[in-house]
Amino acid sequence: MSTIVKKDGFDYAFDTLACSTCEGRCCTGESGYIYVSKNEIEKISKLLDLEIRDFVAKYLFKKGYKYSLKEIKHNESHECIFYDRNVNGCKIYEARPSQCISFPFWDYYKRRVDELKQECPGIIMKDDNV
Ligand code: SF4
Ligand code: SF4
Repeated sequence: MSTIVKKDGFDYAFDTLACSTCEGRCCTGESGYIYVSKNEIEKISKLLDLEIRDFVAKYLFKKGYKYSLKEIKHNESHECIFYDRNVNGCKIYEARPSQCISFPFWDYYKRRVDELKQECPGIIMKDDNV
């Protein structure tokens, strides 16, 4: 089965195989916001078997009107609180937010492919004949 993912409207493809060796660069590195919707908050709380208010207090912070997952500082890296270095994976994979699911196909990157390539080693350009 092919590991290459393509999406209409994007000039690049993505090889999911790269995730096994890249050490979660999209979950670590520069500080950022990992937004979660109300439905996602409910889903993750359920997965973790937590009351919603306890989940919010422990794992989220407010940014404007939205909520984001917290980060943990590891040396110079700001890492999503659910990134697990030991297994190079996401502790809430089944319930991860849509922002994570849709990466690297974000509208933001349509005009910033060079920036994306710096972050994600799985990016393949159309010219690479995939
Ligand atoms: S940065 Fe790219 S290759 Fe690395 S884990 Fe994220 S999606 Fe996978
Ligand atoms: S929720 Fe999971 S996939 Fe999303 S940034 Fe955190 S560790 Fe990565």
